[in-house]
Amino acid sequence: MSVLIECHGLTKVYGNSKALDNVSFEVQSGQPIALVGPNGAGKSTLFSILAGYTPATSGEAKILGHNVGSPELIGRISALPQDALFDPNLTISQQLSFLARLQGFSRRESIIEASRVLELMLLSNVTKDKIGALSHGMKKRVAIAQALMGQPELVLLDEPTAGLDPANARNIRQQVMALAGETTFLISSHNLEELERLCGEVLYLEQGELKAQQLIGQQATQHSNHNTPTQAKEGTHPPAISYLSLRLTTKNSVLDAKLKALKGVSAVDCQQGDEFVIAYDYQQNPILDQHLLLLLAESQISYRQITHGQSLEDQLFRK
Ligand code: ADP
Repeated sequence: MSVLIECHGLTKVYGNSKALDNVSFEVQSGQPIALVGPNGAGKSTLFSILAGYTPATSGEAKILGHNVGSPELIGRISALPQDALFDPNLTISQQLSFLARLQGFSRRESIIEASRVLELMLLSNVTKDKIGALSHGMKKRVAIAQALMGQPELVLLDEPTAGLDPANARNIRQQVMALAGETTFLISSHNLEELERLCGEVLYLEQGELKAQQLIGQQATQHSNHNTPTQAKEGTHPPAISYLSLRLTTKNSVLDAKLKALKGVSAVDCQQGDEFVIAYDYQQNPILDQHLLLLLAESQISYRQITHGQSLEDQLFRK
């Protein structure tokens, strides 16, 4: 693993409003990284700055040790913009080969590279079609295929599965997982379950400020907007408190007290009577999950799901 992105005091001002406000963080290459935040939080602005499309008003952003937008990054990073546009007059294969030529591929290599990435996105059957003939999901896959050309080290995916049907969304998730060894993805999405499955770490933006950076499934670490990259990195340390999340098939009003009595448990948060987040000291009881299963069996309570850690939604939004 090596430092992939470093941002320090990154600020972007549009007119009177700050789209990004003194954002500092550092992330390593490796597992996909989630970028989460409400609409208007500054996610696309951060993507645009990292991709070199727009300059920051102040602050610094480096990728792989180079300032964003510098020529050293050509071919090493790529981006899927939210609304990628393609030439309606060219076939899919022609457009991607053309873009590969711009990246420095020879004529022959560009054709091979275009068909490689189209195959990755399961689009080999539409290479001779024009963009207008494709469905929304297919267009999105073409745009992702384009972002994968040249095997970049960092791919920025801005809402890659937004508006896609479940099968297309699943295909994109599978491709991201398959490529995660060679490429690090920074992915923005409102689908927290999707990010939870794909990503190892999350950056949470709100009103232009970085509010949290944390490992997924771990305890939340809040950020002030005057953090330094080092402080941000400290937020990724393993937590002292561990969590188990439990979902029952039906509501239960007495389980709460029984859970609190289990060894090592420090707090139990119950929502709607059938969802519990159990905070506990792993050192005190490393086999709490087994104790929990025994308790459920003895009490004849059936469950839908037990997971280690908190869901991303709970991590970010449970008070
Ligand atoms: P997100 O992607 O999280 O929805 P954006 O980065 O698109 O957020 O926007 C952050 C803020 O910056 C919003 O208030 C938005 O209106 C503003 N903004 C984004 N792009 C521009 C622009 N080109 N001109 C003016 N304001 C912009």
